[in-house]
Formats: sequence, C-alpha cells, structure tokens
Amino acid sequence: MHIIVCVKQVQDWDIPPSSFKIDEATKVVTPPAGVAPVPSQFDTIGVEAAMRLKDNDPDAKVTIMSMGPEGARDVIKHSLAMGADEGLLLTDPLFEDLDWYQVALVLSAAVKKAEDANLVICGRQAVDWDMGVSGSGIAELLDWPALTICKDVQVSDGTLSVERVLMDGYETVEAALPAVVTVSNELGEPRYPKLQQIMQAAKKQVTVWSAADLGLDASQLGADARKLTLERLYVPVSDVECLIMEGDTPEEKAQNLAKALAEAKLI
Ligand SMILES: Cc1cc2nc3c(=O)[nH]c(=O)nc-3n(C[C@H](O)[C@H](O)[C@H](O)COP(=O)(O)OP(=O)(O)OC[C@H]3O[C@@H](n4cnc5c(N)ncnc54)[C@H](O)[C@@H]3O)c2cc1C
Repeated sequence: MHIIVCVKQVQDWDIPPSSFKIDEATKVVTPPAGVAPVPSQFDTIGVEAAMRLKDNDPDAKVTIMSMGPEGARDVIKHSLAMGADEGLLLTDPLFEDLDWYQVALVLSAAVKKAEDANLVICGRQAVDWDMGVSGSGIAELLDWPALTICKDVQVSDGTLSVERVLMDGYETVEAALPAVVTVSNELGEPRYPKLQQIMQAAKKQVTVWSAADLGLDASQLGADARKLTLERLYVPVSDVECLIMEGDTPEEKAQNLAKALAEAKLI
C-alpha cells in the first residue's frame, strides 16, 4: 500500500483575525510578519491516520505531499518526523493563486505521476480557506471513490473501511482501493514526534516536482482556467450588541432578561 497524505501549509490559526490585512481592491490577504506558517490542523490528523495504518502494516509507504512555496518543506519535515517515509513538494510560480479546481488538478496530477499510490488522505478542510473541496476534487479527477469526514480509517485485504462523522451519529462505509479519504478531528490527537525522529526526518528524501514535471502549463493553471472566481474579499462588519443582565440574584437577572426580551418583542 502506498499512502499519499496531502498537507497544506497555512498561517498559524492562533493569529488573531484582526492582525491580518485585507486589501479589498487586489483581493489579497496579508498575514502579520514574522509568524512561521504551520501544517493545517486536519492534515496532521491525516498523517496520524496514515501512521496508524502503517503501524498495522509496516510495509505500507507513506508519502507527504504539499503544494506551496519552498517554505512548505517545513510542514513536510514535521510530518516526516511523525514517521512518514518520503516527502513530495509541488512548487512552481504557476501554483500561486489557484482556485479549488486547479488545486485538485495539481494534486491529482501528482498522485497519477506517483503511479503506485492507492490511498490519498486529506484533511476534511484546510483551516485557512475552509472550502473542504480539494479531497473530493482529487477523487473526481482520479475517478476514485471519495470517503469524506472520517474518524476511523482501516484497510484489510485491499478493502478500505471508514467511520464517517454525521450530524447525528456515525456511519461505516467500505470501498475498494484506490480511494481518497478526508479525515476529521474526531480521529484523535496526532502523535508527537520524538527528538530522534525529528533528527531522522532531516535525512529523509523530499522530491520536488514543478508544473512541467506534472505535464501542466499556464493554459490549465492561469486565471482564465479558473472554474470559480473570487468576487469579493472583505471583513464582515458585525452589528452584534452584547447586553449584560444586571441583578443581585439569578431570579432578578432572569426577570430583567424576560423584561428585555419582551421590550424587544422577542417573547
Ligand atoms: C489570493 C487568493 C485568491 C483566491 N482566489 C480564489 C478563487 O478565485 N476561486 C476559488 O475557488 N478559490 C480561490 N482561492 C482559494 C484557494 O484557491 C483555496 O485554497 C482552494 O479553493 C482550496 O480550498 P482550501 O485551501 O480551503 O482547501 P480545502 O479544500 O479545504 O482542503 C482540503 C484538504 O485538501 C488538501 N490540500 C488543500 N490544499 C493543499 C495544498 N496546497 N497542498 C497539499 N494539500 C492540500 C489538504 O489535505 C486539505 O486538508 C484564493 C486564494 C487566494 C490566496
């Protein structure tokens, strides 16, 4: 089994939203300077899912794939320290500012080029743009089944069995490999790399592929080839008012709350 885990490099989600600058005219978001990017939260959980499969099948190969700038090497290294075997960095000026379809096109082209890959694991969504489409897009372009938002991933005799998280419970779904799985936080905490693993990760191979290596060019990756256009980028203005109910006792506070709701004609 060859598992490819898609790991996106994103801005640290601990950065307060107010620190980002949004240029509405150019539709560009600028994060605060000097904060190191991190792997997207759900993608590290994807690495954990792959490592649990490798724990049960030590012959399984786990490749960490990231599309982004040269700096995305750092998120690959972090995942390699969790025990993955190899890294794959997809980097090219043509890979900047892609839409969801083009992201899936690049990632699926790399899976095809890897030839022997038979399981792709993605996060349920990237924690920056939160679109949650890339995993299903990769599956569509590869013509593989997509099993989304999973909390448990098992493989036995070439059959994939997952537990999907639903609004009101869970469902178990099976599919034959090859397939694409997206994972959710219910899968559990990702393992923490030990110091020795971090040192070993530095020696693991990271292959670099460009657009040309994947047989892609500007006719597929340029602005004219986008399927979905970003119309507007802005900070929503919040007109929410917070009212603290006064009162010496819970009963008095409740009475004041009921009075305020009645005055607002809500009850
Ligand atoms: C300046 C700018 C302009 C944009 N304009 C548009 C636009 O016009 N139209 C539009 O649709 N989108 C636009 N986007 C959004 C951007 O293209 C999204 O990244 C894309 O739509 C995929 O959504 P997502 O990043 O939320 O990933 P999701 O679909 O939420 O990601 C799901 C999973 O896919 C994998 N994945 C995603 N990206 C990568 C990656 N780079 N490397 C490895 N794995 C990955 C990860 O496993 C991730 O957990 C723009 C972004 C920027 C910065």
